[in-house]
Amino acid sequence: MDYDSIAKAGSMLGSGAVMVMDDSRDMVETLQRLSYFYMHESCGQCTPCREGTGWLWRMVHRIQNGQGRPEDLAKLDNVAENIMGRTICALGDAAAMPVRAMLKHFRHEFAAKIDAAMKAAA
Ligand code: SF4
Repeated sequence: MDYDSIAKAGSMLGSGAVMVMDDSRDMVETLQRLSYFYMHESCGQCTPCREGTGWLWRMVHRIQNGQGRPEDLAKLDNVAENIMGRTICALGDAAAMPVRAMLKHFRHEFAAKIDAAMKAAA
């Protein structure tokens, strides 16, 4: 594990956190916890981070709690994209990167919860 290898894999070293989990882990719940952490840690100095981390958490929280909407996945991606590279410190990027990674690799888990929510509401 080094800076170049991790950068090639589309991530970064620096915040010093490695999370190890098995394949039974609920990735929506995992992102909900991560998003809460970043929302809580945002100092509020710049708007994309101050507002965006809250938007991310609220959307993931909604999906996790059976109130997801089909448009949430595109909105999550859009909010994360609009935080990336637009904040004073790296916390904004650090909040957005797991959202984009989760949507890339575990989109089916988010979609399944939204589908279940839509069926329950019908
Ligand atoms: S990106 Fe950094 S400076 Fe900007 S609000 Fe977030 S924590 Fe504060």
